[in-house]
Order: sequence, then structure tokens, then C-alpha cells
Amino acid sequence: MRYRLVLSCLGCLLFLAGCVTTKFDQTPVVVKRTQMQMGTLVTITSVALDRQHAQEAASAGFQEIHRLEELLSTWIATSELSRVNAAAGKAPIRVSADTLKVLEASLEMARMTEGGFNILVGPAVEAWSVLDRQKVPSDLLLEAVRPLTDLRSLHVNAEQRTVYLAKPGMRVDVGGIGKGFAADMAVAAMQKAGASAGVVALSGDIRTFGQLPGGNKFPFGIRHPRRAEAVLAFIDLQDEAISTAGDYERYFEQDGVRYHHILDPITLHPARDCQSVTVVARDGLTADGLDTGIFVMGRERGLALVEQLPGVGAVIVDRSGKVWISSYLKERVRMNEGHEKVNLE
Ligand code: ADP
Ligand code: MG
Repeated sequence: MRYRLVLSCLGCLLFLAGCVTTKFDQTPVVVKRTQMQMGTLVTITSVALDRQHAQEAASAGFQEIHRLEELLSTWIATSELSRVNAAAGKAPIRVSADTLKVLEASLEMARMTEGGFNILVGPAVEAWSVLDRQKVPSDLLLEAVRPLTDLRSLHVNAEQRTVYLAKPGMRVDVGGIGKGFAADMAVAAMQKAGASAGVVALSGDIRTFGQLPGGNKFPFGIRHPRRAEAVLAFIDLQDEAISTAGDYERYFEQDGVRYHHILDPITLHPARDCQSVTVVARDGLTADGLDTGIFVMGRERGLALVEQLPGVGAVIVDRSGKVWISSYLKERVRMNEGHEKVNLE
């Protein structure tokens, strides 16, 4: 009798132990969802202990991107940046802390990339309107918009939290950095909502956090800039962001020359030295701002900059198609079959 009691107690204990183990050893659930936001396909991968938390965290990520789009998009007439642009030459506009942060980071990025990154190139981008007009604008037109791209006429007052564009017609366009920032903010929202790991990808601007179930890092392919759908190289990321700026997504060709959407603020023509620039950094704001800025600086100056920045690496395909890899990434990038690389020592 007593023997049976002990056995059944033992059974209970084993049963309880079983419950406890399943609770802690539970394999995390991975949820993946896609939506159209910020004019692009946004894919969120969310990892959490159960499906409900994974779903809630993914929703929190999408909501955060939606909130930022309402502040930063120049396609939305009521956004903060649209109001700043509409008040160009007239009055300073008060903005949120988030908008201020993107603008301050953009100015810092302009300093770092020696003017390669410039959020005032909007009027020149429009003069080219690479997808609609498919025609090279006249020098006269480009020179007419040049004064509007002068960063000294952008006044950001951090204390008052105001932004003022000094000349009528000036325009702020955070297309080259905003998606990386949105990825960072979406990750913070997902973590708050209980995700243990995940990926936020706004097309080529991607931020990861944590690890996949099983302890794996998140694998990524870097696209080949000249072969559609082909992967040039692979890299695994953990708690890092990756961003690519390329000349292959929005462009037209005239007389055998490719004209694309990243402009060199000095020539006001499409930057010529690279086919694609991929940057890995700890945050999306840095990765996205740098990919555009380095694309303009070109391979040599761009790599020299990256070599000075801790936690930052780059893979650059130069205009001849040669692949250059900065020292921070040289052990981590695996070239796809048939592709060669040049490592910086
Ligand atoms: P996307 O992922 O949209 O291709 P990129 O990071 O490559 O974004 O940035 C390109 C966008 O940045 C352009 O569409 C334009 O709005 C803007 N842009 C173009 N040239 C520059 C520049 N020199 N500095 C900052 N932004 C730029
Ligand atoms: Mg960018």
C-alpha cells in the first residue's frame, strides 16, 4: 500500500517535472508576415515562446512603422516632413522627437560621408525623376535647383525641436535613411511586445535581433547587382542591421549609360563609382545612411571610412563588378559559387 503511494507520488512528481520541462524547453514559435508600408514590401519575422506573443510582436512592429510613415513620408501631405517642406522659406515647424532624431542623424551622416549623403537632394532627384521621365535633365535645370540642396540652409534646432528650410522650394527627403530607422524602431516595439528574436526587413533595409530557435543566426543573401535573382554572397547576422544601396532597382538607360536614383550632391548626376554598396552595422539608421553615402563616396573613400568605424563593415561591388570586402566582414562573408572577392587586409 505504502509502496504504491510512493510510486504514485513519484508518478506525480515525474508528471510535474515533465510539465516544468516542457514549459522551459518549449521550442519558440516563428511567425512571418508581409505588408506594404513606406512604399515597399515590409516583412517581419517574429520569434516568441508562443504563437500569440509572436503575432502580437509582429503587429506591434507593423504599427510602429505605420506611425513613423505618418511622420516622415513626403507622400503623405499631413506628415511632419511634408509640413516642414511646405513651410520652406516661410517658417520653422515644430516636430516630434523621432523626426528630430532622423534629421540629426542625417546631418551627422552628411558630415561622416563628406557630403555624399544629403537629405536635400530631393529637387534634383525630381529633376531626374528616373522612373517617370526617362530623360537626362539639362544642366540649366540642374544648376537651377543646386542652391536648394545646400545643407547650410537646413536649420535644425534641437532645443526648440524645430526645423526650418531657409529657401522656398527646398525639400527634406529621408528616403536614403528612413527605412533603416523604421527597422530599428520596429525592433524595439517587438521586443517590448515579448519577441525574443526577429527580423524587420523593409525591402533591402534589414535589422535583426536575437537568434533563431536552435541558436542559429539569421542568414542573408547579398544580391548580385547585374544578375536578377542571383545571390552574390551570404552572411549571417545577429543583433545587427544590413542595408544595400544599388543602381539596379530604379534606373533607365540612354545611349548605353545607366541613370539611377542615387545622386552625387556635387555633380547632381547619378553616382558612378559603384554598382552596389552593402553595409552591416549595429543599427539600421547607420547601415541605411551609410549605404547611400558610401555609394556616392565611391569604393576607395568609402572603404577608408568604414575601416575607421567600429562595428561597421561593407561589401562593395565597384563599377567594373569587382567585389571589395572590408576587414570587419572578411571572415564572415561567404561568396556564392563562381564569384571572386578582394579582401582588405
Ligand atoms: P532605397 O532602398 O529606396 O533604394 P537607398 O538607401 O538606396 O534607398 O536611398 C535612395 C533614396 O535616397 C533615393 O530614392 C532618394 O530619395 C534619396 N537619395 C538619392 N541620392 C541621395 C543622396 N546623395 N543622399 C541622401 N539621399 C539620397
Ligand atoms: Mg540608404
